[in-house]
Amino acid sequence: MSFDSLGLSDALLKAVADQGYTTPTPIQVKAIPPILAGKDIMAGAQTGTGKTAGFSLPLLQRLMENADLKLKPKKIRALVLVPTRELAAQVYESIATYGKYLPLQAQVIIGGASIDVQTRLLRHGCDIVVATPGRLMDHLSQKNIALSNIEILVLDEADRMLDMGFLPDIRRILAYLPKNRQSLLFSATMPGAIKTLAATILHHPVEVEIAKQNATADNISERVYGIAQANKRECLSYLIGSNNWQQVLVFVRTKHGADRLQKQLIKDGISSAALHGNKTQGARNKALEYFKTGKVAVLVATDIAARGLDIEELPHVVNYDLPQVAEDYIHRIGRTGRAGLCGAALSLACPEEAYLLEAIEKLLKRQIPRVNDTGYEPISLKVIDAPKKNAAAKNSGKKDYRHTSKKILHHSHGSSNNSRGNHSKKPANSRSR
Ligand code: AMP
Repeated sequence: MSFDSLGLSDALLKAVADQGYTTPTPIQVKAIPPILAGKDIMAGAQTGTGKTAGFSLPLLQRLMENADLKLKPKKIRALVLVPTRELAAQVYESIATYGKYLPLQAQVIIGGASIDVQTRLLRHGCDIVVATPGRLMDHLSQKNIALSNIEILVLDEADRMLDMGFLPDIRRILAYLPKNRQSLLFSATMPGAIKTLAATILHHPVEVEIAKQNATADNISERVYGIAQANKRECLSYLIGSNNWQQVLVFVRTKHGADRLQKQLIKDGISSAALHGNKTQGARNKALEYFKTGKVAVLVATDIAARGLDIEELPHVVNYDLPQVAEDYIHRIGRTGRAGLCGAALSLACPEEAYLLEAIEKLLKRQIPRVNDTGYEPISLKVIDAPKKNAAAKNSGKKDYRHTSKKILHHSHGSSNNSRGNHSKKPANSRSR
């Protein structure tokens, strides 16, 4: 299958060829023709599958089909909602790249940037807005933006937007849109809440399923190191240094933890930056840029970076802390092994996290291979008490073991000096972005 057979215009084919893409990815093959035909779609696709081009290319073409190029100021005809500022910037760049031979203009609306500057730019008009829901809502309530001419709505990473609590904002935004429009929903997973949302916004959608649900990409090699919490930092520095890893995305649970680990890595002589929600947008952009361009070898991030980020050819992801919500494991490690390349994902799991590992493996329906060559005393990661789900998690239908108590079996291989040996340690803090 080639791009030529998908029905895309010459201007778009040229832009795609400029990118060096020769063959459309499965999501592009399945999603582009129905979108071009004006259909709503509901696509289950992981990040890294080429889904951004999958909706951007036909969106640009549809806008060109009945564009009034003389209209001044331009009216916003397409809206792409995404969960994070970083993803918004990425989607905007993709649209600009694929649309470089077209007279269409896009604008990014995200928090952490000047609302006045955005308002001024909006006044000049544009065809496409890529936005995070919170800031878009701010503009709507200040009447800075009109969405009454929207022809195409894209909800990208819809499951993530719901996880981040954007559902009320999304519902309010939907009320500003014309009923007669094309809607495209992309989500890595399809929990009940997404299906409910889809049922209210999509009309006879074409369902496009690419990723097996709750699956990770086959080209990512996964390993778990059982290691005491107190040894994780040293072990990480050792792994990076001894293997000469040049680009490693490290996930930690908290913002504070991200800053602390980043400083410790610097002390160990490893260049690193931290990315989390307490940083200014400027600092976040800088950290990401430094990491992408190789100025720093390690990016220590909270789950804000778990989805959507496209770091070209990222070879290594490390879970320094296991994620509190099992689904986040899939999104975190999906930062590597993108666009068909191979990647490695390593999880440093301490006994206190054994129940999190168990939840991840239950979700994946398979065991992640254990590796014992860390140079530290091997540690058992067996949970001996099934943790109880907390009420909030029950209500959301999502497994969340944040506030459960548990007993964990330490050191099946004998006692270790490396362990903290703190059997009564409280479960980890709630997730913080
Ligand atoms: P996405 O899932 O949209 O974040 O895309 C993941 C990566 O795949 C991005 O780096 C894209 O530039 C790249 N990509 C998208 N479509 C293709 C294609 N047809 N061939 C090769 N790479 C692609």
